[in-house]
Amino acid sequence: MCQVCEETSVLSSRRRSFLKFAGLGLAVSAMPAFAAENAPPKPQNVISPDAALERLMKGNARYVDNAPLPSDFASTRAALTTGQNPFASVLSCSDARITPEHCFDAERGDLFVARIAGNYLTTGLLASLEYGAAVLQSPLIMVLGHTNCGAISAAISAEVNNTDYPGHISIITSDLAPAVRAAMKKNPSNLALAVVRENVSMNVQALRDSTPILRKRVQEGQLKIVGGIYNLDTGKVEVMTA
Ligand SMILES: [Zn+2]
Repeated sequence: MCQVCEETSVLSSRRRSFLKFAGLGLAVSAMPAFAAENAPPKPQNVISPDAALERLMKGNARYVDNAPLPSDFASTRAALTTGQNPFASVLSCSDARITPEHCFDAERGDLFVARIAGNYLTTGLLASLEYGAAVLQSPLIMVLGHTNCGAISAAISAEVNNTDYPGHISIITSDLAPAVRAAMKKNPSNLALAVVRENVSMNVQALRDSTPILRKRVQEGQLKIVGGIYNLDTGKVEVMTA
């Protein structure tokens, strides 16, 4: 085999492997939740979108009360070796103070978490969340913003004071600028919090409108997409209604 053919063959093979991995070799509507021979490793995670949100918030209530369930890292280790079926996906800020597994008192294998400073969608993060929803059958996506977000403060400073940030950091402030501008138009008394909320709302809407996977799953009742604000002072997550 010549070198070109060999490379083409390798690429095809890799693509086939990826499609197999992602389950995307099948039409999205035809993708099985789990192959018949592979039962969901966590059957308790096969729940409705509403039940998933309720479970998430009950976990947050335990976290707020500082009364988490006892951790058991060993019992699920074998089951999670060959698969995962998280009951919720979270688009969270990278902030070290926001740890979704902690703040929702969730165990390994429960949450599919995509993180970026400023908790906003990028193409790669959208792909990750599509994978969580369509392949792993996660019934819920929460976009989780938080109070006192450094990325949001930087984006405000870039917009209001023309502050320059070194390296690639300005990519984040540029990407968050639409949320800053939208919030500023409303003349809020607390601009930082208003931008946090605006940013969550915009990304919830972007996810709900996203084709070809997420919008369809929402319309079919297989997926719920909500926004949440984590309050650093209390640990409580407020579910946004708008
Ligand atoms: Zn943040």
